[in-house]
Amino acid sequence: AALVTVLFHLGEMATATQSLDEETFELLGEELGYKIQVVSPEDEERELLDSFDIDLEAELEAEGDEELEKRAAVVTVMGHVDHGKTRLLDAIRNTKVVEGEHGGITQHIGAYQIGVEHDGRDRRITFIDTPGHEAFTAMRARGAKVTDIAILVVAADDGVMPQTIEALNHAQAANVPIVVAVNKIDKEGANPDKIRGQLTEYGLVPEEYGGDTMFVDVSARQNLNIDDLLSAVLLTADAALDLRANPNKDARGIAIEANLDKGRGAVATVLVQSGTLHVGDTIVAGIAHGRVRAMFNENGDTVEAAEPSRPVQVLGLSTVPRAGDTFLVTDDERTARQIAEKREAADRNAALAKRRKRISLEDFDKAVAEGKVDTLNLILKGDVSGAVEALEDSLLKIDVGEDVQLRVIHRGVGAITQNDVNLATVDNAIIIGFNVKPAERVAELADREGVDMRFYSVIYAAIDDIELALKGMLKPEY
Ligand code: GDP
Repeated sequence: AALVTVLFHLGEMATATQSLDEETFELLGEELGYKIQVVSPEDEERELLDSFDIDLEAELEAEGDEELEKRAAVVTVMGHVDHGKTRLLDAIRNTKVVEGEHGGITQHIGAYQIGVEHDGRDRRITFIDTPGHEAFTAMRARGAKVTDIAILVVAADDGVMPQTIEALNHAQAANVPIVVAVNKIDKEGANPDKIRGQLTEYGLVPEEYGGDTMFVDVSARQNLNIDDLLSAVLLTADAALDLRANPNKDARGIAIEANLDKGRGAVATVLVQSGTLHVGDTIVAGIAHGRVRAMFNENGDTVEAAEPSRPVQVLGLSTVPRAGDTFLVTDDERTARQIAEKREAADRNAALAKRRKRISLEDFDKAVAEGKVDTLNLILKGDVSGAVEALEDSLLKIDVGEDVQLRVIHRGVGAITQNDVNLATVDNAIIIGFNVKPAERVAELADREGVDMRFYSVIYAAIDDIELALKGMLKPEY
């Protein structure tokens, strides 16, 4: 943090989460006679919590074995599209959710817990209700480890497909044991043995072939062998993992889903990973903070307390956390708010730093003068194809001068999408929206990534701006 301050005084906006400029850091440091240490986001977070006297690692170490109690395994369902992930999650939920007061009317809150009898004992398993490895990997990218076991669904009539392999790779990269559900065995042409052979080639060797991966043939549609699949999950958990946590302390965990509800405000589903969460606790989750006003389980029943591996919907947060944000309980509301505010400031700085590196229409001429760019890359999106074509034609007619080029790298009809923003990030492009706007989520992404988006409803206004920008005469908007 001290280095960031020094750089700041040198007129260099930087944050500790910026990785691209590590070399710059080091060079600058040498120049100044500083020994440089690049600070990772994890270090930064640790330092932040440390300044509030919260030390997660010391707390974990201080925990005696006798404090730890068994907790339910947390399972994610992955696999190729249409192989039956959603159907399987539904089948498991419908047959096994522990009945609620309202007769088990289940709601989608992002995760659910089921009860099963296994080996004469009552056991529980928690399922993440968003199938696919994308959510799993997005959360991992944020440093969150949510999943203990992955169920890899493969349709027996279709076989191993690209996303099957992708899911398998993602699970293995995260060191998560896999149970294979060979689905759709009710279908004609289903060939479960073929699946076993195919997956063996990828290192998932079935137990019956002498390996250590459990394969279970199921039909999500006909509810066939669902119990066997759940047994396989429990056996795998017992054999490969020691799933324990201390329930007798303040809760920590991860936000897995959140949305803004008109009547209820921010609604977030969190997964408790250790400790017990109580109504009335003060929590901070990413940049959201607040007092837990009420909690609900997957049946819509209110709950007073949530133990490790329990997903609960939480009301009372100031805003929506992101999937994968960690949450923790603080001593008081002030601390929660301050932690959230510091994180928000750090996020803003990171976005600012990124923005400085990205091209914007206002400082395009400056970037040209500094020799950083010689091409203005544009992405055009409009409400109708005629407008997009007309805009492109007019843009390409602009007299850009000798030293610069103007390129339209992508054009399309419809709202500005996440994909457009990603493309702009990669190719350092500016997005022009003609009578179209991005969804809120997409606007947020563009803001975070520092992508310049401009919106117009008349063509000549767009042309004017581009011409001015090329001359270095576009005035910044505030
Ligand atoms: P996902 O994309 O992996 O989530 O797949 P879905 O759960 O949406 O299932 C895709 C299609 O396969 C749907 O039409 C399901 O009804 C069907 N399906 C899923 N499981 C089975 C099964 O066990 N047997 C049969 N015959 N169809 C299934």
